[in-house]
Amino acid sequence: MKTDHLEMEDDSEVYKTLLESTKAIPWKIEWETLTFSYIGPQIESLLGWERNSWKSIDDWIERMHPDDREAVVNFCIAQSRDGQDHEADYRALTQDGSYVWLRDVVHVVRDEQGDTIALIGFMFDITERKSTEQRLLQLQQELEDLSYSDALTGIANRRMFNSILDMEWGHALRCRQPLSLIMLDIDCFKQYNDHYGHLKGDECLKQVAEILKSVVRRSNDFIARFGGEEFALILRDTDAETAGAMAERCREQVLLQHIPHAASDISEVLTISLGVSSTVPSPGDDMTGFIETVDKLLYQAKEQGRNRVEIQYGS
Ligand code: GH3
Ligand code: MG
Ligand code: MG
Repeated sequence: MKTDHLEMEDDSEVYKTLLESTKAIPWKIEWETLTFSYIGPQIESLLGWERNSWKSIDDWIERMHPDDREAVVNFCIAQSRDGQDHEADYRALTQDGSYVWLRDVVHVVRDEQGDTIALIGFMFDITERKSTEQRLLQLQQELEDLSYSDALTGIANRRMFNSILDMEWGHALRCRQPLSLIMLDIDCFKQYNDHYGHLKGDECLKQVAEILKSVVRRSNDFIARFGGEEFALILRDTDAETAGAMAERCREQVLLQHIPHAASDISEVLTISLGVSSTVPSPGDDMTGFIETVDKLLYQAKEQGRNRVEIQYGS
C-alpha cells in the first residue's frame, strides 16, 4: 500500500495543535539540566498551577503525593538513566490542595551512543479509573469480610472457624504445642425464643457473643458462632487446664449478666453448657475426630444437668 500521501509534512503548527488539543498533557524534560523545556497548556486546567511554574524536575517532585514520591521518583530516574521507556501512576497535587491521579507515560530519547538526552511524555488523568478500581477493591474486601462473618453477631462464622481451625491445627502439629477447643451452647434456648420471641432471642445471641469477646483477651484466641445458639473458641498454644479455666470463666460471666430466662428448666437466668478438650496433634491425627470429641463433651454437659463445663484431658 502506498502511504506517502499520509506522511505528515514538517508542519510544526499541526503538531502543536494536535498536542495541545488532546486530553493527555505532553511534556519534555532535558536530561542534562533536569528542566522542563515544554509542557502542554492543558496542565493549567487540570492541576491549576501556571504553565510557566513547571521549571525543573523538582516542581514535578514537590507536587507529588508524599506517599507516592519516593517510589515513583526513584523508579522514573532509574528507568530514564537506563534508557527504558516506562509508565508511572501517582497522585499530583492541585493548586487548591487536592490530588489528581496521573499516569505518566515516558519515552526516553537517546543519542547515537545510547546516552539519555531527554524525556518526552504524556500525563493522563486517571482519577476516574483509580476511584473505580479502589471502590472495586473495597467492595471485594467487604464481600470477603461478609462471607466470613456472622451477620447477626458480627463475629466469625462457621466458614471462618473451619479455616482458622485448619491453620491452628497445622501450627500445633509443626510446633508440637497443645491446641484447645471449647464448644458451648445456650441452655433451653428454644424456650427462650418461645417465651420472649425470636427478636429477643436474637438480642440474646448478640449479648452472649459480647460476653465471650470480653472473656477472650489474647490476640491469638479465636471465637466464632458455630451455628444457631452454639459458639466455639479456638485457643492456640493452650493446655487443657488453661482452656478449662477459660471455659469456666465464660460460664460464670454469662451467669453474672443475669439475663432473665423465666422459661428455663434449670435457672431463672440464662446459662450455657460447655465442652473442652486439648490435643497436641501428631501427623495422621484426625481433626474432625477432635471436633467430635468436644461436641460429645458438650452433650455430656447437657446430660449432666447443663450450666456446666465438661473437660477431657486429651493426648
Ligand atoms: P439445650 O439446652 O439442650 O441446648 O436446648 P435448646 O432449647 O437450647 O436447644 P434446641 O436445639 O432444642 O433449640 C435451639 C433453638 O435455638 C432453636 C432455634 O429456634 C434457636 N435458634 C437458632 N438460631 C437462632 C437465631 O439465629 N436466632 C434465634 N432467635 N434463635 C435461634
Ligand atoms: Mg441450646
Ligand atoms: Mg444447639
